[in-house]
Amino acid sequence: MTQDLMRGFLFNNMDIRGVHIRLDDSVQTLLQQHAYPAPVSALLGQLFIASALLSANLKLQGRLSVQVRGDGPLEYALAECRLDQPGTLAPLLLKGLARHSDAIKDNMGLLELLGNGQLVITIEPDDGQRYQGIVGLEYDTLAACIEGYFYQSEQLPTHLQLDMSETQAAGFMVQRLPAEIKNEAKADEDWELVHALVITLTADELLALPADEVLKRLFHEHDLTVFAERPVGYKCDCSRERSAHAIVALGKAQVDEVLDDLGSIVIDCQFCDSQYTFDKVDCHMLFAPGTNDPEQQEILH
Ligand SMILES: [Zn+2]
Repeated sequence: MTQDLMRGFLFNNMDIRGVHIRLDDSVQTLLQQHAYPAPVSALLGQLFIASALLSANLKLQGRLSVQVRGDGPLEYALAECRLDQPGTLAPLLLKGLARHSDAIKDNMGLLELLGNGQLVITIEPDDGQRYQGIVGLEYDTLAACIEGYFYQSEQLPTHLQLDMSETQAAGFMVQRLPAEIKNEAKADEDWELVHALVITLTADELLALPADEVLKRLFHEHDLTVFAERPVGYKCDCSRERSAHAIVALGKAQVDEVLDDLGSIVIDCQFCDSQYTFDKVDCHMLFAPGTNDPEQQEILH
């Protein structure tokens, strides 16, 4: 049985909501497969947790990604959370990757890794408008940068804790509700009260305790609505169909040029290392008249 679960909650008498997530060693297995240097691996783990936490309250079919990028030895690191069947307990699916130079040292913090960098949060519904928010990286932890992002972009006071150990990863977030605030003084007071409680949660506690225990430990004097636990999994959503779309997007002229040089086109998935090969016949079918939608083509199945 998977231990990778996310649980949301809501204060009944305050306009504040929260999310808890704990990932077992499957996230470490995933990170080890990529063989990134230790600080990159640790940051990518935090990005995984953050992308799931930020997806918790989205009611859409699509994806949310959290990316850091810059001009330092770490070019970028990105985690993406795939959301399906909104309103159900369908698992959230995580994937991620990073690109870096050889200049990474073990003790580097976020700002040393990325240099002059940015935090980019992208929400992409399957059908609908893509939304992207970008802020400069100004703090030396990812959690602080994301808190800053919510404050700058949405004026939403947010507290985020992201912790990793050798075998686990866990995250905790509380946030003021984006609803219209009727009583500003009470809202501020409530937030200060909850914030004072959540900052007492240690990394050891967050990594060791299931959601119910964390909530009991922090908020036993408060009235909460706790939602059902939602599973979190790791699965790349690349496919031959999506690769075909990418080839069609290149345009026939460029595709023909590559085919003349190499004989086939190979699409590599950077997330999971899957390869999709399209030979001349496959590509010809993609551009054949009357078959504009690659998903309709038999060759793909
Ligand atoms: Zn893939």
